[in-house]
Amino acid sequence: MKRAWLKAAGTGLSLVAVAGAAVVLLLSVIGLGQAAGSHPVADVDAARMMNAERDAGNWLSYGRTYSEQRFSPLTKITSDNAKQLGLAWFADLDTNRGQQATPLIIDGVMYVSTAWSMVKAYDAATGKPLWSYDPEVPRELGVKGCCDVVNRGVAAWNGKIYVGTFDGRLVALDAKTGKPAWSVVTGDHKNLTITGAPRVVKGRVIIGMSGGEYGIRGYISAYDAETGKLAWRFYTVPGDPSKPFENKAMEMAAKTWSGEWWKLGGGGTTWDAISYDPELNLVYFGAGNGVEWARNYRTASKGDNLFTSSIVALNADTGEYVWHYQATPGEEWDFDAVQQLILADLTIDGRPRKVIMQANKNGFFYVLDRRDGKLISATNFVPVNWASGVDPKTGRPIESPGIRYDLTGKPVNMMPGALGGHSWQPMAYSPKTGLVYIPAQEIGLEFTPVEGLATSSLGWNVAVATTNTPGTKGYLIAWDPVRRKEVWRAGHLGPWNGGTLTTAGNLVVQGDASGSVNVYRADTGEKLWSTRAQSAVMAGPVTYEVNGEQYIAVMSGWGGAFPLFEGKEAAKSGNLRNVSRVLAFKVGGMATLPALTPEPKLVLNPPPATAAAATVATGTGLYAQYCSVCHGENAIGGGVVPDLRASSFLGNDFWFEIVLNGAMKDAGMAPFKSVLDHQSAEAIRAYVIHRAHEDSPRN
Ligand code: CA
Repeated sequence: MKRAWLKAAGTGLSLVAVAGAAVVLLLSVIGLGQAAGSHPVADVDAARMMNAERDAGNWLSYGRTYSEQRFSPLTKITSDNAKQLGLAWFADLDTNRGQQATPLIIDGVMYVSTAWSMVKAYDAATGKPLWSYDPEVPRELGVKGCCDVVNRGVAAWNGKIYVGTFDGRLVALDAKTGKPAWSVVTGDHKNLTITGAPRVVKGRVIIGMSGGEYGIRGYISAYDAETGKLAWRFYTVPGDPSKPFENKAMEMAAKTWSGEWWKLGGGGTTWDAISYDPELNLVYFGAGNGVEWARNYRTASKGDNLFTSSIVALNADTGEYVWHYQATPGEEWDFDAVQQLILADLTIDGRPRKVIMQANKNGFFYVLDRRDGKLISATNFVPVNWASGVDPKTGRPIESPGIRYDLTGKPVNMMPGALGGHSWQPMAYSPKTGLVYIPAQEIGLEFTPVEGLATSSLGWNVAVATTNTPGTKGYLIAWDPVRRKEVWRAGHLGPWNGGTLTTAGNLVVQGDASGSVNVYRADTGEKLWSTRAQSAVMAGPVTYEVNGEQYIAVMSGWGGAFPLFEGKEAAKSGNLRNVSRVLAFKVGGMATLPALTPEPKLVLNPPPATAAAATVATGTGLYAQYCSVCHGENAIGGGVVPDLRASSFLGNDFWFEIVLNGAMKDAGMAPFKSVLDHQSAEAIRAYVIHRAHEDSPRN
């Protein structure tokens, strides 16, 4: 099959995305005066989840409640006393990769997942570690994720904690001890990964999956919470049409595809949003982009390609299709529709409406009727150049001319780009202010098709190179979903800032990429308090109460797609350090972080550049194809994995042991001998040496 390599211009970046101890339950923690160990732990069931909104002191599920509003009714911390916030406790984590998880807090115990799908339990009042679980994901598998070895959270049900692992397992842990109760492998594709948080509905653990860029056919699954038995699975794209379709929805979806899409998997992965309406008994989730990105190579340039880039509603009992809304039909710019799905009851045009809301990667804020998926409104919340709007009758975007890939080689300049106007960073909705708090960003991308890129055996199936355009921005928007407009905004130094939390105390909490944790007035956006976290904060904050004291907690730790790909742009926020921690704050908190050791200066001291220009040119392409996704475009690191320009192995033949044979696989560097030979590894080294000389102060 013919493939395209989309080469980029702009800033000149060029990314190729081809494709424990026993739990000790102190009486003071539980506060119920029961004998230690006799109180049920992670005591979450259907009745408690249905009442989660009023269960003020706890944070029982990823988005706090099934509606995923991330709104807390707690009012001890308010816009009046937020200025007195201080650090209550912190807990250092044992990895320095990206931290994206939202902690759960259940009856005084915090459960949180970290990079490499590890899980920790802490006393939520003191930060005392209770247990730790490591699923021992082989570190060389890190290369199978486009966007870091992150994990966004755990779920809790009836004494168990559930985590999806980076190597595709769903693991149930005993919430008292952290010991595995059961574990299932959720699929057989060699490039299956999981980064998203499970949710539990009616005693079934619902879990999505990642790997759309690596040739996977998307699906979402439900497993019995007690036994791990598969209850249902819904595929998001149809399989080989010569075989029977799994259900009527697949038969319908197949009519929107052409060519031999199933050979590439199709995409449509389910890597983030899941919400649930108990009254309608509907589970909602988002599906990602198609594979390949270029529609002509995926599906002969035809069709909408259901259910890629769609919001889908399923019967919670059976997993059967109920409705869908496709945000970006026939998508080809990595506009996953997996961003958080918030359920709320709004009054629109004088009518009470049951809505579902999403700030999509494609730059539009969608309000749908969650009973039937009909579009209520779609309004851009960031600058959008690819569509002039969304047709209210058809629900389809009004595409701008010339935004489809032009295979003659003409660049296509997209705003937003592949990292989205909003990505996985969770947003929050306050029923008190009626506003949605969106971590928004502007990162444009330019796509230029170039023919002839072969698919690697590492499974990269999207033949695309991208480059961001200058002028990246990041900001927090307070968005009125009824009036369809921005009410206030708070600016940040650059993109890729943290998720948001809002509270009945009139607060919005958000960390940022520069390394601050900030608290704003929810109604006006006035900044009330800010503290330095020593590292970027991307994750979603939570709030909870233990022993009558309200806390705000969030994870620090830089990583994910943006700093991995775009080190130069990521540096604009001024903090590339990864200090991975759980941080908890309270009014009058007096704890302090240990002083940071001075950051080692990046010393570029490359060996002489002796390679022929042709070798450097070969290395440029190979680096872009195999290395830039983690080590950064133009070999500029973003603070998450080593900056190769400063590598001590540039002048040392151990380079080949690392690149080809996996000498550093335990540190996360996969062996590339299946796709690169000695000569290729040499060319890549020549390119990195060349880049180091270009950026060396001696020049
Ligand atoms: Ca994607």
